[in-house]
Amino acid sequence: MMGKCEAAQVEVFSMIGKDELIKRESEAIIQTYTRQDVVLVRGSGAVVWDCDGKEYLDFVAGIAVNNVGHCHPMVVEAIKRQAETLIHTSNLYYTENQVLLAEELKKLTGMKRAFFCNSGAEGVEAALKLTRRATGKSKVVAAERCFHGRTLGALGITYKAVYREPFRPLDEATFVPYNDPEALKAAVTKETGAVILEPVQGEAGVYVPDPDYLRAARQICDDSGALLIFDEVQTGFGRTGRWFGKDNSGVMPDIMTLAKALAGGLPMGAMLAAESVSEVFQRGDHASTFGGGALVSAAALATIEAMKCERLVERSAELGAYMRSELKKLQPREVRGLGLMIGLDLGADCKQVVQMARERGVLLNNTGDHTIRLVPPLVVTKEQIDRVVKVIGESL
Ligand code: PLP
Repeated sequence: MMGKCEAAQVEVFSMIGKDELIKRESEAIIQTYTRQDVVLVRGSGAVVWDCDGKEYLDFVAGIAVNNVGHCHPMVVEAIKRQAETLIHTSNLYYTENQVLLAEELKKLTGMKRAFFCNSGAEGVEAALKLTRRATGKSKVVAAERCFHGRTLGALGITYKAVYREPFRPLDEATFVPYNDPEALKAAVTKETGAVILEPVQGEAGVYVPDPDYLRAARQICDDSGALLIFDEVQTGFGRTGRWFGKDNSGVMPDIMTLAKALAGGLPMGAMLAAESVSEVFQRGDHASTFGGGALVSAAALATIEAMKCERLVERSAELGAYMRSELKKLQPREVRGLGLMIGLDLGADCKQVVQMARERGVLLNNTGDHTIRLVPPLVVTKEQIDRVVKVIGESL
């Protein structure tokens, strides 16, 4: 079976066809993923097409990656131009885009310096290493339900025991209930190197803390000498209706991690350090062959430019509030979120809803035990939101 993407101006074919591809994937790829039964071949804005030409509204957005939408023309143009000029050099040399991007991130976040890597987990690893170098301490306090990645360091501070157990020994965090300042205070000691928090918990099912919680965390760290790390891998770049999740509370961390939406869909991560720790790493303390490469940095600069041109941060706040109010009309157990980072808590297994919505042309993702996470591209329209809410309503 060979599919054709009918809605596309450029014809896009699956060369292999769905059934054959799925069979070959199972034989060629190490089986760590549970995939949905779709072969995607093209995307534009908030829409993707499968190999049979079927169109879907994409409310997964590459797991909160495609904030500027699929194949945003400014990002595509920047990638094309850079690909024809210089793709990779390593960090043995200076390249302009990397410095321009670091300066842009400094302006947007108020942090002092950047280290570039290639994923969220790598950003977290860099943060853990910087913590050790800055404080001489390795103990970390993290939140229950948190997710920080799957590499060994990040895994040790990720909450779900089923993820950690097969890979022990790990340097494991002390986990405390999220949004509970007293519990955090009790757990942080003179031995604590850092407290790491997501400004909104994503993988857990989208949990928003009280603004006072992050302020209390800042105070607890200041009192104990521990560093405060905000993992903004998922909450960054307009997702929560502000440029960064931290901006909802006004709290500045010592270290911030970024990835996902940073480079418009290309793999890129970053660790940003505040003034207090920005000069701790010495030459050779950390490195990445690909980190901050010319191509991904060009894509990231274009992504940020597109976000500004299209006022996507404001759009996320406005449309997020609209979507949450529409979802509440479906009378679920709970609707949580900030901006276009929304958790629809159904209080029951969501797998069937996800499947039925997919059959009706909507891509959804369930996370946590009973929550559908809605993280559409920020370029999504009100009409597309209406359609998705209607489809979810029909699927319930
Ligand atoms: N930190 C947070 C808050 C995340 O949501 C994720 C991924 O979902 C990660 C870290 C890991 O990012 P990556 O999959 O790019 O390693």
